[in-house]
Amino acid sequence: MNECGHCFVKIGEEPAILANGKMWHVNHLLCDLCNCRISDGERCIPQNGIILCGDCHIKTTRPICKGCGDFIQTNLCEALNSTWHPTCFQCSVCQKPLDAEFHQMPNKMCVHADCFWELQLRIVVCKDLPK
Ligand SMILES: [Zn+2]
Ligand SMILES: [Zn+2]
Ligand SMILES: [Zn+2]
Ligand SMILES: [Zn+2]
Repeated sequence: MNECGHCFVKIGEEPAILANGKMWHVNHLLCDLCNCRISDGERCIPQNGIILCGDCHIKTTRPICKGCGDFIQTNLCEALNSTWHPTCFQCSVCQKPLDAEFHQMPNKMCVHADCFWELQLRIVVCKDLPK
């Protein structure tokens, strides 16, 4: 009495995959997010009653970079209560990745400690002298 979890047709002798506590026709085990076919042996992750392919599982469980809005697959930076790609967490002055020593400006821009001083100098230089 095994019905395919997708088409609800009884599965007889034909090959089937057991996933998420149900049987599925080999062609009917689909990712609930991207609808791609999940083949036997491929990563299939049941989550909250839906089935995800390996790719979608990564997407739904990976943190999102505050800088570019993309998913973070490997390295991440944690700063300012957010997660960032190391390459996205960069200095607004020199565009190089930030290290542990950085300053946050009142406008939320982050800059290297060195660049911060450079920026201060620039601000001072740009100011008009009082008449
Ligand atoms: Zn089916
Ligand atoms: Zn998917
Ligand atoms: Zn990013
Ligand atoms: Zn910098």
